[in-house]
Amino acid sequence: MNRRDDRLTFERSVPGRRGLGVPAPGVPEQEPLPGELRRAAPPGLPELSQAEVVRYYVGLGRLNYSIETGMYPLGSCTMKYNPKANDEVAGLSGFAGAHPLQPDELSQGVLEALWELQEALKALTGMAEATLCPAAGAQGELTGMLMVRAWHRGRGEDERRRKVLVPDSAHGTNPATAAMCGYQVVAVPTDPAGNMDMDGLRAALGDDVAGLMLTLPNTLGLWEQHILEIADAVHGAGALLYGDGANFNAIAGHVRPGDLGFDAMHVNVHKTFSTPHGGGGPGAGPVCCAAALAPFLPDPHIERRDGRLVRVRPERSIGRVGPGPGSVGVLLRAAAYLRTLGLDGIREMSAAAVLNANYLRVRLAATYDQPYDRPCMHEAVFSARALRRQGVRALDVAKRLIDYGFHPPTMYFPLIVEEALMIEPTESETKESLDAFAKAMHAIADEAATEPELLHDAPHDAPVGRLDEALAARRPVLRWTPEQSVVPAG
Ligand SMILES: *Cc1c(COP(=O)(O)O)cnc(C)c1O
Repeated sequence: MNRRDDRLTFERSVPGRRGLGVPAPGVPEQEPLPGELRRAAPPGLPELSQAEVVRYYVGLGRLNYSIETGMYPLGSCTMKYNPKANDEVAGLSGFAGAHPLQPDELSQGVLEALWELQEALKALTGMAEATLCPAAGAQGELTGMLMVRAWHRGRGEDERRRKVLVPDSAHGTNPATAAMCGYQVVAVPTDPAGNMDMDGLRAALGDDVAGLMLTLPNTLGLWEQHILEIADAVHGAGALLYGDGANFNAIAGHVRPGDLGFDAMHVNVHKTFSTPHGGGGPGAGPVCCAAALAPFLPDPHIERRDGRLVRVRPERSIGRVGPGPGSVGVLLRAAAYLRTLGLDGIREMSAAAVLNANYLRVRLAATYDQPYDRPCMHEAVFSARALRRQGVRALDVAKRLIDYGFHPPTMYFPLIVEEALMIEPTESETKESLDAFAKAMHAIADEAATEPELLHDAPHDAPVGRLDEALAARRPVLRWTPEQSVVPAG
């Protein structure tokens, strides 16, 4: 293999080199722009041949780790393989070429595909209605909780119900959503078995509570064993139960959250239904809801009227949460995935995800602590606290995994687990890849005992070593500034 060339395109530039030919214009030449609108000097773009440009970008791509290069056990995020058929469907010209402002009469095909997805989500969640508008799980939460607030307002109870309950194991978006909706966030503790603490819940419930936001299975990867009691207690207090559907891939096709008492929930289609994600978007976070909340759904809502599909503004809508009926390209991928698998396939998908996680849970049990010792759902949460004796932390284990060719798991989440390592293999992995991952995790635990320095400096074989992540997030350098420009000034 060639030695890596780290120079940027600007640094590779050679004056006069060209990578493309511009055809002669097919229209008459126009008057030049007035002088004051013209650049005084050429823009100083890099000058390279086509082969150099291709090699530059392919080289950058090879530095990346992705689900297409290896296992990506990032708990909660559900980094499963995205079948290529999904992309092909979304790329069909009738779909990809449709304009969001095209009238309904000319959009029946794309609306039909979206409507079918809406119906499938309703069937899988056991809820009366659904919206495809929200552009992410987090925005789905915001949409759902704004609908919850509108429902209380409609009953004249909004003034009084100022609190939203959130388990102490929750994803950060839950309290953030409640706060954005103007609520006071109250944390509910977790009991020693990893369930919601029922006494804690009862103590927090009252006529000042608007709702409880709950992830099922919870963010410890565990089935919430008191879910029916929880739903009764919440409803008994006049509040609503909101579901964070990020972990729906553990139960889809087996349990319908609507049957358990959830009043609304979002579905992270980029997790459960295999649409691409990472890097901040684009995403989609449809919300399903009970009939009582349907009048508050965002605008536009896709409905069938006299055999035609139309986009309408529901009667007491919370308004718009985005420019159109949702991230259509992402939603179509989810629709294709659902169509390909069917209900039986979805059932198999979630069963395999749970089986894979439990396989790793048992294989790693001797080496890594399990804070809650019971079968898990689609992800297994470990604690690296035992390695602290050797001065090794969860972060070191995660970084060392990179040298072994694996993407690190989620670290330090949920917050209530000390030195947390949250591993979600997903159903995409074979037994061989799970075994290879377990072997790497065991080897790292051995290294922690014998050569802990090896872990402190990891990764050793990655394109870049240990980074200052706080600085990288706070002061990212997003723009190349020439120290000494190789591009001629004019
Ligand atoms: C991913 C995730 C979210 C947020 O979803 P996005 O689609 O990333 O906005 C919320 N809660 C949990 C438990 C998650 O894993």
